[in-house]
Amino acid sequence: MDTSTLLKISKEFGAPLYVYDAEKISSQYQRLTQAFKDVPQLRLNYACKALSNLSVLRLLNSLGSGLDTVSIQEVKLGLLAGFKPEAIIYTPNGVSLEEIEEAAALGVQINIDNLSVLEQFGSKHPDIPVCIRINPHVMAGGNSNISVGHIDSKFGISIHQIPHLLRIVDLTKMNINGIHMHTGSDILDIDVFLYASEILFETAKNFKQLDFIDFGSGFKVPYKKGDIETNVEELGKKLTKRFNEFCADYGKPLTLAFEPGKFLVSEAGFFLAKVNVVKQTTSTVFASVDSGFNHLIRPMLYGSTHEIINISNPQGRERYYSVVGYICETDTFASNRRINEITEGDVLAFKNAGAYCFTMASNYNSRYRPAEVLYHKGKAHLIRKRETFDDILHNQVDIAHVFEDDKSTVGTK
Ligand SMILES: *Cc1c(COP(=O)(O)O)cnc(C)c1O
Repeated sequence: MDTSTLLKISKEFGAPLYVYDAEKISSQYQRLTQAFKDVPQLRLNYACKALSNLSVLRLLNSLGSGLDTVSIQEVKLGLLAGFKPEAIIYTPNGVSLEEIEEAAALGVQINIDNLSVLEQFGSKHPDIPVCIRINPHVMAGGNSNISVGHIDSKFGISIHQIPHLLRIVDLTKMNINGIHMHTGSDILDIDVFLYASEILFETAKNFKQLDFIDFGSGFKVPYKKGDIETNVEELGKKLTKRFNEFCADYGKPLTLAFEPGKFLVSEAGFFLAKVNVVKQTTSTVFASVDSGFNHLIRPMLYGSTHEIINISNPQGRERYYSVVGYICETDTFASNRRINEITEGDVLAFKNAGAYCFTMASNYNSRYRPAEVLYHKGKAHLIRKRETFDDILHNQVDIAHVFEDDKSTVGTK
C-alpha cells in the first residue's frame, strides 16, 4: 500500500488505526501455496491468534485457507466466519478437558499436546480422531519467548515419551489421525526445520491411520531493510521431496499442513498514529504519538523492530527521532530512528503491524483500542469501530450504593 492511500484512510477513519491490505494477505497465501505446489494435498491453516478480526477470517476463508485456533473462542469465531468445522484445527496448550470436549462437540479437529489429557480424552471418546502435538526438542526460533520446541518448552509431547504415548493409544483404542509440531516463530534455518521434520516422520511411522502431518509454522518475515526471511521456496522444494518420499513409504497420500500466522498477515498491516508532541531534549528528539504499548506492545514485549514512516511528509528530509507513546511508564516504540522530518499533527505508519498487534491490544490507561480497516480491491472497509467510553464501562458493576450506605453512617456512631 502506498503512503498516500494510507494518509487518505487515516483522514477518513481517524487515528490510531490499524489498516490491513487484503491484496498482501492474498499474495502471501498464494506464495506459500505455490512453494508447495508439488505436494498432492496441501493444507494451510491460518493461525488466527495473529489477527482474528472476523472480516480477516472471512477473507482467508474465501482464499481457501483452513484455520488454526488455540482457544474455544477462536473456534467459535472461525465457525462464525464461515469456516467448516473440518477446516478448523484446535491446538490448545494446558486447557481443561471440558474445553477440548466442547471443541470436539463442534466438530473441529482436536490436537492434544500432553499425555494426561490424551489419556482422559481417549478413554472417554475413543471414536473421535485426534492429532498429537509432538515436541521434537529442536531449538528453533528467534527469541526465547517465541521458541517453543526446545527441551524446556511446555509445548507438545516429548519424543522421549513416545513409548508411553503408544501404550495410551493402544489401551484406549483411539484413532490418531494427525501428527503435529510447532517449533516456534522466526525460523531462519531451513536445515533445522528439515531436521525436526525427520523426527516427525520417524514418529509418524508408529501410527497407521494418519490423514495428515502438520509442520506448524515459524516462517520469518522481514521487519526492516536487510532482514533475512524464511526462504519458503527453498523450504518448499526440499520438504516436498521428503514428504512425498515419506508418503510413498507410508503407503498412503497424506495431507501436508502448515499453520502460518505472521507469514500471512504481518506485512499486510499498518498501524497509524498521530504525533501529538515533538520534544527536543538534550539527548534526542522525541515524537510522542497518540498511542502507546496498549495498542502495539511488540517493541516493549519482544524488543521487536517496526519500521516507521511519516506518511504526512514521505519526501521530507530524514532526521533522528525517538518515537514514544503516552503510557505513564517506559513506552518506547523506537529509539534514534531516521524518519522523514516530523511536525506535530503528522501521521506515522508502523509497518509489519498485521500480526500480534491488534490482538494484543488492551485498554490499559483506560484508553480505547484502535479501530480497524480492511483495504480490499481499492476500497477501505471499517471492520472494527473505534471504542467509546461505554466500552470502558461495559462489564463493570458499579456498587455505588455500598459507599452511599457508608457515607450515611459516618458520624452517626
Ligand atoms: C502461534 C502459533 C502459530 C503461528 O505462528 P507464526 O509464527 O505466527 O506463524 C502456529 N501454530 C501454533 C500452534 C501456534 O501456537
